[in-house]
Amino acid sequence: MIQKTRTYILISFSLIVLLVGFYLFGLIRSANGTNVENNLNTFFPEPFPSSDSSMVTIAFTGDIMGHTPLIEAMYQPVSRTYDYHIVFQHVKEYFKQCDWVVGNLEVTLAGPPYTGYPNFSSPDALLYALIDAGYNTLTTANNHTYDKGKSGLIRTLNMLDSLQMPHTGTYRDGLEHDQQTPFIWESSNGIRIALLNYTYGTNGIKVLKPNVVNMIDTAIMRQDLAKARENYVDFSIVSIHWGDEYQRKENATQQRIAQFAADHGADLIIGSHPHVLQPMKIITPGTDSTKHVPVFYSLGNFISNQRDIYRDGGIIAEVRLVKKAGSTYIYSMRYIPTWVYKKESIPLSFTIIPVSKAEAFPDNFKFSSADSIKLSRFASDTRLLLNNMTELKPEWSNDVN
Ligand SMILES: [Zn+2]
Repeated sequence: MIQKTRTYILISFSLIVLLVGFYLFGLIRSANGTNVENNLNTFFPEPFPSSDSSMVTIAFTGDIMGHTPLIEAMYQPVSRTYDYHIVFQHVKEYFKQCDWVVGNLEVTLAGPPYTGYPNFSSPDALLYALIDAGYNTLTTANNHTYDKGKSGLIRTLNMLDSLQMPHTGTYRDGLEHDQQTPFIWESSNGIRIALLNYTYGTNGIKVLKPNVVNMIDTAIMRQDLAKARENYVDFSIVSIHWGDEYQRKENATQQRIAQFAADHGADLIIGSHPHVLQPMKIITPGTDSTKHVPVFYSLGNFISNQRDIYRDGGIIAEVRLVKKAGSTYIYSMRYIPTWVYKKESIPLSFTIIPVSKAEAFPDNFKFSSADSIKLSRFASDTRLLLNNMTELKPEWSNDVN
């Protein structure tokens, strides 16, 4: 009898433990973002693409900077050339899986002498490495685009054109601007996407005629978005250089401009310039309460020499679009945190580290304990700020590409 009672107590206890376990497991799943992901899915409530639909995967990165220590680190004394491939060696693998990789080129390719802050001119080798990494469009409307004046703007465009790197945001003259606006990228499976690019300013340097740098001007933005529609694009993206440097929250002007762009037809807004990550928020156009427009207020630094807290990395934002029965919608949005590893030893080097790759293969990255601490602090700060999004953790391979 006593034995039987003991057995009952044991079974009941085990059941309680199991039930509590399931309950806690559910809570943890919610905390990891499952519920939030469901929330996002209510904004984009589309089924898995079927055979009659086409999909495109787009990756956006933040600011591509060129501070003096970075230029010096890329110099190869034996060949007396520059080589930037090491910077992108770990992200290349992921970029190769994307259809369209877009970044903000925040330096000029003005030729020597190569200079860092405050007037950037980087070696052409940077562009070779960007192409090799898998970039297929660069935006150039930013506050450093006119750092080397007219000749710097023109040489940069000449370099991009000669290597067939599509670009948007700056132009040799008004005619070129008109002919190239809106910039349209078309995927191999026929999804047409407009990319419109604007900057708040050019560091106080006056842009001389006939050069054109796209400035944030709501009348022009409205006109460009209308022109994109007239060109039968499926989707319109506004890439915009704005905000307060080093502020981890968007300001009221950014909110107002984002709302304006959404009200006038932008389907997605990608921000740059603050050199730190800012939140991703979803706004609703005043004209269409059923539509949801994601705004990445700032993607942070993709590559730079900035080492202070929050400035030593950024994210790759991945957006997948699906076109079905003539309509195009966001199928998913995810992000990859990327941290800039500056190896301080001689020779100095810089490499962009996808956080999830470093976590998957810790033995491959011989970080000092100070660097490991910086990386994990960056990772947790980033994950906290983007807690309404799903993090993308690709199946990284164990080797360097
Ligand atoms: Zn900037």
